[in-house]
Amino acid sequence: MDREVILNPGDILYREGGSNKSAYIVESGEIALHTTVLGQRVDCERRGAGAIVGELSVLTGSLRTVTVEAVTHCRLFQISSDQILSRFDKLDPVLRACIDTSISFAGTLTERMAQTSGEVPFVPSTLQDAQGVIDEFKLEVDILAGLNRGEFSLVYQPIVNLSDGVVTGVESLMRWQHPVRGNVPPFRFIQTAEAMGSIEKLTEFALTDACAALMRMRNQCPERPDFYTSVNISGKDVERNGFVDFVANVLKFNEMEPEHLKLEVTETSLVSDPAKAAMCLGELRELGCGISIDDFGTGYSNLAYLKKLPLTTLKIDRAFAGDAHANAISRSIVTMLIGLGREIGVDIVAEGLETSDDVETLLSLGCKYAQGYYFCKPLPEAELLDFIGSNAGEIRHVA
Ligand code: C2E
Ligand code: CA
Ligand code: CA
Repeated sequence: MDREVILNPGDILYREGGSNKSAYIVESGEIALHTTVLGQRVDCERRGAGAIVGELSVLTGSLRTVTVEAVTHCRLFQISSDQILSRFDKLDPVLRACIDTSISFAGTLTERMAQTSGEVPFVPSTLQDAQGVIDEFKLEVDILAGLNRGEFSLVYQPIVNLSDGVVTGVESLMRWQHPVRGNVPPFRFIQTAEAMGSIEKLTEFALTDACAALMRMRNQCPERPDFYTSVNISGKDVERNGFVDFVANVLKFNEMEPEHLKLEVTETSLVSDPAKAAMCLGELRELGCGISIDDFGTGYSNLAYLKKLPLTTLKIDRAFAGDAHANAISRSIVTMLIGLGREIGVDIVAEGLETSDDVETLLSLGCKYAQGYYFCKPLPEAELLDFIGSNAGEIRHVA
């Protein structure tokens, strides 16, 4: 999907009266906007790098009001009307009414002030960090193309029972190997995917692959009937319609017990629409899936949401769990979180344990489950199967 548009001087991007529904960000070069009044060309504006053009017909749903022509050699980036309108829908209603009114008033003024002479104004870009915006759109295009080209995969990090070192399940973590960008770290592409919309497709990929892989892993360890997979999902997933049905279908397709799938959400991902998130998590819990709060302790200090959510696991963030042996405050926080977990009857998993000191500290504080480089880094499926095969239950160092 090529979204770059290259124009030479005199080339027309679109014509007045046309119905093309995209907007464009000018990456480089200069364009002229002109219209026709009484058979005569009227030059309206010139715009340069960082400017948007074509936004009006996207927002109003009307035909193009001007013709856009390249003045110099230009490179533009095309944004679909869906991508703009989905952002517009999320605006504060007052702000939205202001924009609607301004657009309509600008139309009235334009009609009244149409002149056939005078200097053509150059309008500076109002888009902040236009290159950053374009880069995000390009990353989104690459994510969607990468999914189709099979560039995404999952790796699996064992979650162990701290008292005997037995692997009880895995966390499924996504990897992206792009032919030009290389290995793109999840924190980079997940953030963009959440902002731009492709997170829906990424989560569907993760759930589909993780559940299929779990069934293969379970075949390798029949002596562990509770072996599970834990999949990271986004706040955007729990807010969208149809997500619970998707999860139910994946479980059914794989003939998988729902309790062998845990879904991890962060506290911060639940704040934009807490009521909808609570409803969705409630339905997933009713389905039988486990619900984990990820990076617990790093989000909001207001814990009232714990009462409303049907949780089964709290995952103590690496910032505390991996630091508890050396730092008294981290140790106090971990002690408090473990106590909280016990009180409300949920499992506690400590994240990011790297040393035997970390392990001993968490064990002494009464933590039951853990994951971290001390036990094993996230591994591709084949290596994970070898690891499980050799994991008879003693606490072991990473090879
Ligand atoms: P997370 O869910 O908190 O995942 C744990 C991260 O800590 C993983 O990083 C893991 O590789 C890393 N880790 C595990 N043990 C240790 C340790 O002992 N020390 C250190 N320093 N790190 C450790 P990764 O795979 O780079 O993932 C980063 C984040 O990206 C994840 O944090 C999660 O928020 C997100 N992510 C990864 N895969 C997915 C996915 O499939 N869907 C979604 N929505 N988010 C994902
Ligand atoms: Ca996680
Ligand atoms: Ca985490």
